[in-house]
Amino acid sequence: MGGPFAARKDEKGDLFSQIGAFLSAHALSPEPAHYNFAYDVIANPDGMLAGAVARLTDGGVRLSRSDIESLGGRVVMGGSAPPPRRDDHAAEQQADAEAAELVAQTQAQVDGFADMMRAMQDETRGFGRDLAQSAAAIERTAPVSQTAAGLDEIARITGSMLSRIRDAEVRLAQATHEADALRAKLAEANDTARRDALTGLPNRRAFDEAFTTRHEPDGPFCLAMCDIDRFKRINDAHGHQIGDRVLSAVGRTLAEECAGHLVVRHGGEEFAILLHGIALADAAAHLDGVRSVIAAKRFRLRETDKPLGQVTLSIGVTAVQPNEPIAAAFGRADQLLYTAKADGRDRVCAA
Ligand code: GH3
Ligand code: MG
Ligand code: MG
Repeated sequence: MGGPFAARKDEKGDLFSQIGAFLSAHALSPEPAHYNFAYDVIANPDGMLAGAVARLTDGGVRLSRSDIESLGGRVVMGGSAPPPRRDDHAAEQQADAEAAELVAQTQAQVDGFADMMRAMQDETRGFGRDLAQSAAAIERTAPVSQTAAGLDEIARITGSMLSRIRDAEVRLAQATHEADALRAKLAEANDTARRDALTGLPNRRAFDEAFTTRHEPDGPFCLAMCDIDRFKRINDAHGHQIGDRVLSAVGRTLAEECAGHLVVRHGGEEFAILLHGIALADAAAHLDGVRSVIAAKRFRLRETDKPLGQVTLSIGVTAVQPNEPIAAAFGRADQLLYTAKADGRDRVCAA
């Protein structure tokens, strides 16, 4: 006996495996864009798209990237697409943005899947309960004369249905568990996309998101740009690895000294800070304290205890205006940072 639920599940399982086989046959990675294309082909086998694909792949040839694009599909990283160019900062940013979009899309799909599974689980549980109540009612109301064989048969049928439902519940619980695990993994991937690998601080994407979604009543907001002075000299004198350690140490100190505010590695040897609930004059005074904490640190090589020399920061800080776009506030903070450098470095410029 295959109830409606069993039939739906089989169809879905079949569709999943057909989509998997299609992606594998055309060397497409399991990205949502490829999955959507495969779904459009397979879900409507008599449609125009499936017909075009059949013609293009006649004789067992694989779909090329341009075939897929000419059919309105999209090929993303991996699969038959060329690898992203890594020698170019813009290409890297584009790849990062695509990865983040992919994570967001997949997260939405998984959330939908988990919710659907949970709803099905509830539905099954409810069905099982109803069935058990019906079985009990039959037993209570059946005339004694009908009992024996008739009731035995009813008990046998309902018993087997109940056991099927219990099996389905177990399977659904497993699927829900898997979806929850996937959701946690994706949340982690989302976090990774917003964190700088070297310092462990949030990155520029996290900053841009926080800035553009800032809740103005939590303000006033100030934006600070901090740049390590003469950092190139540290690299030149001690090597890139030691430079990396200094970057991490400065990032850590900034995050500790500005706890409660958002400190990110904005790129290279630059850090951006979004301070909230603090007026410009107080923000500048606080940042000057942070600057002097860093200037007073005596960095030493861990291995030899040799001093690295003083490490200082120049900082430009500005008050963010209501509804101000991020580029305008950054432009001002950058200009102030430039002034701090021009005025001799190791200082804070505020306006
Ligand atoms: P200024 O005071 O004018 O800021 O001088 P500077 O030397 O800090 O500035 P410049 O822009 O000339 O050099 C920045 C250096 O930071 C050059 C680059 O190699 C180094 N840098 C950028 N990112 C990293 C990194 O992740 N690790 C290391 N070790 N160095 C980095
Ligand atoms: Mg710099
Ligand atoms: Mg610098």
